[in-house]
Amino acid sequence: MIENKEIMPAMFIGHGSPMNAIEKNEFSLNWAKVAKTIPTPKAILCISAHFETGGTYITANDEPKTIHDFGGFPKALFDFQYPAKGSSDLVTRVKAVVTSTKVNSSKEWGLDHGSWSVLAHLYPKANIPVVQLSMDYTKDAEFHFRIGQELKELRKEGVLIIGSGNIVHNFEYLEYGKPFEATAIQQWATEADEKLRDEIQRRDFEEIINYRNFQLYRLAAPTPEHFLPLLYILGCLDEEEKVEFFNTKVVGGAFSMTSFITRLICSGGDENP
Ligand code: ZN
Repeated sequence: MIENKEIMPAMFIGHGSPMNAIEKNEFSLNWAKVAKTIPTPKAILCISAHFETGGTYITANDEPKTIHDFGGFPKALFDFQYPAKGSSDLVTRVKAVVTSTKVNSSKEWGLDHGSWSVLAHLYPKANIPVVQLSMDYTKDAEFHFRIGQELKELRKEGVLIIGSGNIVHNFEYLEYGKPFEATAIQQWATEADEKLRDEIQRRDFEEIINYRNFQLYRLAAPTPEHFLPLLYILGCLDEEEKVEFFNTKVVGGAFSMTSFITRLICSGGDENP
């Protein structure tokens, strides 16, 4: 089923463990499934938790390298390659639509695991060009939300915008020595996840943008990097679409895998994946 020819859906993906890249599990299978319900994008713009810079940068490589930005995982994960091409056209368009800050070209970065661990399932053939936009760690949440608003225009041009992070991401509650799956789930983590989903669904972004002012959200995002990709996607939402959640599960104590895709509210047609 192909829906919504005017505007490409936008996605937020809770990426979790890098191992999801090479595992077929309940989360990665849903990533693969959801990609089949949307039109094939012309290009993908990914905002990953793992690309933080002073200033805003965009990957301008024709052949972005697969970056293995982690340690202590099996060789199979380090061997993994995601050979998608870059897109100079998309780089040009991002620089044109983002006017609130200067977007600098980077040939140093490539695709980090926030992007490729997810794209490996969404588009396993790596046949769609991918560009990553960095998050300026010197700026507040409002700044990131505003860039999302500016990027919205690209959705009309067949660009799939993906935010890749985790809306609840707190290592403090991981019980080392216990299997990840056996770690007790924190009640507050489930609460934060539910509250965020509710606010997103109601388009009530005030508390999300001011998340540092709320104890529950400070627990969910003790550091900003996995939370902020969400702000870009909220910024580029259209009034005429609804948000469809999937993978709404907290794992490893306090990591939420919650993901969503936007669906145009239109008459007729089966809108579910
Ligand atoms: Zn991550």
